[in-house]
Amino acid sequence: MNCIFCKIIEGKIPSTPVYQDEQGYAFADVNPQAPVHVLIAPREHIASIDEASTDQRALLGHLLWAASEIARKKGLENGYRIVVNTGSDGGQTVDHLHLHLLGGRLLAWPPG
Ligand code: 5GP
Ligand code: ZN
Repeated sequence: MNCIFCKIIEGKIPSTPVYQDEQGYAFADVNPQAPVHVLIAPREHIASIDEASTDQRALLGHLLWAASEIARKKGLENGYRIVVNTGSDGGQTVDHLHLHLLGGRLLAWPPG
């Protein structure tokens, strides 16, 4: 499968790792939109949250937990945002499910 995040997870494309375990891999976004911008992806290829099955709901919870754990380790005590862009209206550009963890500055709401 020609998936850039699968290649990153397999180590075929270099990345800056932030956190990893048996289910997920987190790495620095190559084009950061905030002082902290980490992507958290499942090791297993899932195209988007819309494609996740009922059997994968524990994995989704695990990724959310991992994002909050990274936020704690990064010292984001003033707050942060976890985003899952989905589909074309959602602004998803890489078709491998990932959570964005953004923090280190005041984030505007609503998003554009
Ligand atoms: P999306 O738009 O799908 O929600 O987010 C994709 C994210 O992946 C973007 O923030 C983009 O900067 C990041 N990204 C795209 N290609 C690469 C890459 O090769 N390496 C890393 N570290 N991040 C990437
Ligand atoms: Zn993939």
